[in-house]
Amino acid sequence: MKSFRKELWFQTPNRRDYINITRQVEECVRESGVREGMVLVNAMHITASVYVNDDESGLLQDFDDFLERLAPFDASPQKYRHNRTGEDNGDAHVKRQVMGREVVVAITEGKLDFGPWEQIFYAEFDGKRRKRVLVKIIGE
Ligand code: ZN
Repeated sequence: MKSFRKELWFQTPNRRDYINITRQVEECVRESGVREGMVLVNAMHITASVYVNDDESGLLQDFDDFLERLAPFDASPQKYRHNRTGEDNGDAHVKRQVMGREVVVAITEGKLDFGPWEQIFYAEFDGKRRKRVLVKIIGE
C-alpha cells in the first residue's frame, strides 16, 4: 500500500473566504501515484472547514449569508462566551462546526471519483493568517 501526506498552506486576504482547492488535491493524487484508493482532506484549524459542493458564485454567497445569519461575526464576549478568552472568533468556531472538518473522496483509475459538479473547497472563517489543510492519500 502507498501512503502520501502533504500540507497545503493558505493565507486569505479576507476574514472569510471560500477557495476551490480541487486542482491542488488532484495534483497531490498525481504526485502520490495512487490509482485506486482514498484521499482525506481536512482543515488543520478549528476555525476553517473543508467541504464538497458546487463552484458557483451565487451559492458561495448563499453559504456565506446563511452562516452570517446563523452565527454572525461579533467580537464581543456578550455574543459569544468563547470571546471571554480574549479571542474574537467565537463565530468562526460555530461556522466551522456547521460546514465540517474534512472530506474523503474515492480515487479511481488515478482520478478523483466525483459526482456531477462536485468540487472541494477550503472555507476560511478567521483568515488573514497562515493556516493549513492536510491531504492524506492511501491506496495502490
Ligand atoms: Zn477561538
